[in-house]
Amino acid sequence: MNTKINTNSVAVVTGGARGIGFGSAVALAAKGFHLALVDLREEAVNEAAEKLRATGAQAEAFVADVSDFAQAQDVAKEIVGQDRSINVLLNNAGIGSSNGLLEISEAEWDRTIDINLKSCFNWSRAVVPSMLDSGWGRIISISSIASYSGGTVSKLAYAASKSGILGMTRSLAKELGPSITVNAICPGTISTAMNPKTDAEGISLGRLGTPEDIGQVVAFLASSDPNFITGQALTVDGFQYIT
Ligand code: NDP
Repeated sequence: MNTKINTNSVAVVTGGARGIGFGSAVALAAKGFHLALVDLREEAVNEAAEKLRATGAQAEAFVADVSDFAQAQDVAKEIVGQDRSINVLLNNAGIGSSNGLLEISEAEWDRTIDINLKSCFNWSRAVVPSMLDSGWGRIISISSIASYSGGTVSKLAYAASKSGILGMTRSLAKELGPSITVNAICPGTISTAMNPKTDAEGISLGRLGTPEDIGQVVAFLASSDPNFITGQALTVDGFQYIT
């Protein structure tokens, strides 16, 4: 546990029930944070929190749709109302989208942008007042290498949403310094339910990434050690030259 973290210090992880979110929650719990996992399905998020508690961590589950502004406000109020501060936000929940310009419906475009990008606005807005009150905060958002490569063909809305996260990260870093740092992580192909790919061709380190690979970097950025890193996008992809 570092000096900035005490038992009242909460790390909020959206999409924390599985995949990269859960892997990151495990790494944050090892740093001493109290975890607030936010996800869509009650059973899944409760099970994830229970798994963390079974390791001795403090963890709670909250059901919310990250694309809903009011739900983010409600959950943040509930956490802070218990005399705690939210010091870390991991904007992780996201969905894929695989239709190109001439196939994608307006509804799919809106849904992808709302869940992948607007969610980062919703949750930053909900938790930053608590970070400012306590004088210290870390916002980390999961973008993707698709933010700059454009992703595989027809990832239009996905790539746009993930690029949007980078612009938001830089803008928020300017607005929220010096007490809050704001960074993004751009994972390559990570083995999760979202990504059924098993082939490691084109990845220099010869394997797909794991949620733990991303969790390690999340835990580093969430700690008090990287005091002079903000507004950055850190690629964690084993150097993936074919996307
Ligand atoms: P998963 O699908 O394994 O996990 C995502 C979690 O987010 C699920 O629990 C899902 O719930 C939840 N979720 C989805 N929509 C919402 C919503 N509207 N409100 C609340 N929770 C929601 O994905 P990954 O772990 O693979 O991905 C996590 C993040 O990493 C995403 O932002 C993704 O774009 C990004 N990423 C992933 C890569 C990869 O290769 N896996 C590569 C680069 C970036 P439910 O189970 O109900 O759907």
